[in-house]
Amino acid sequence: MNINKICFFSFIVITFLILFNSLVLESKTTNELNIYSGRKSFLIEPLINEFKKNNKEIKINIITGKEDAFIERLKLEGVNTKADILLTTDVARLTRAKKNNLFRKVDSEILEKNIPLKFRSKENDWFGLSVRSRPIIYSNERVNVNKLNNYESLSDEIWKSKICMRSSNNVYNQSLISYMILNLGEKKTEKWIRELVKNFSRKPSGGDRDQIRAIASGQCDITVANTYYLANMLVSKNEKDRKAAKKVAVFWPNQNTFGAHINLSGAGIIKYTKNYKNAVLFLEFLSSKIGQEIYTKKINEYSIRNDVKPSKIVTKFGEFKAYDLNLEEIGKEINKSIKLSSKHGWR
Ligand code: FE
Repeated sequence: MNINKICFFSFIVITFLILFNSLVLESKTTNELNIYSGRKSFLIEPLINEFKKNNKEIKINIITGKEDAFIERLKLEGVNTKADILLTTDVARLTRAKKNNLFRKVDSEILEKNIPLKFRSKENDWFGLSVRSRPIIYSNERVNVNKLNNYESLSDEIWKSKICMRSSNNVYNQSLISYMILNLGEKKTEKWIRELVKNFSRKPSGGDRDQIRAIASGQCDITVANTYYLANMLVSKNEKDRKAAKKVAVFWPNQNTFGAHINLSGAGIIKYTKNYKNAVLFLEFLSSKIGQEIYTKKINEYSIRNDVKPSKIVTKFGEFKAYDLNLEEIGKEINKSIKLSSKHGWR
């Protein structure tokens, strides 16, 4: 072999090694999944740990934060985003992300089978992953339960200065108002808000737990809040919260009409994902029976699946008829609901 041939041969070998190495590195760095999560890590971690058991090779990176901020961030990042999935609560946020063109359509028979149509977008670009209910919660010491009826009747004069409500700046109440608009129409909902505000015992402040605490301390008798807050207070390490939670009870409104208001947590796959397959795999896992049992047991939400029952503590709140239409419609009415609530002083 002359020197030229040796040089050429070495060149080929070295080139091959460089290419091979970069391919291996490439596959190592791209086998990942990047999640922007509005959901807190005490829920996400057990889900990831369970998912990892069968998907050890996927490197998962999570950034947790405020959901609306993630929507803004994704808009700015555009095609350069590293995110593959946005995990968030409330159909209003899911539809907001969709409107901003942040999600891509997903083709998965498993997701379509596991998640009923009413809990996902019609275009399959976002998927509900847990159900949260928002019934009436009342003082079991001061309220005669026979006087309770539906959300509409919370505006009756008998509840003057008896009601505590979270701010309407919060998406949970915006969605509640949207649900009222869908069922009653805009005019009747406007009248309802106008009268309801007169029954507030104080300016809206604090979160759902604070409304329950306010009932327990006697500041008001009735609120509307998500059941997982009450369930989590009942099993809280904080004795004060456990005591407060025992002073209230759940009333399921609108059982003879359109069913109690429910909402979703959910997720969409980001339009510019570079890890589509991993993202689909993860959403499929979240909708699986094992994934759903983590949702019900760890945070006391309801499952999107019929074959996963609520936690023991949530079962005690009783069975109820839930609003049964596609929840995406609620997200579409949000602008009207913001307009109505601010017009009539529900801050
Ligand atoms: Fe919440």
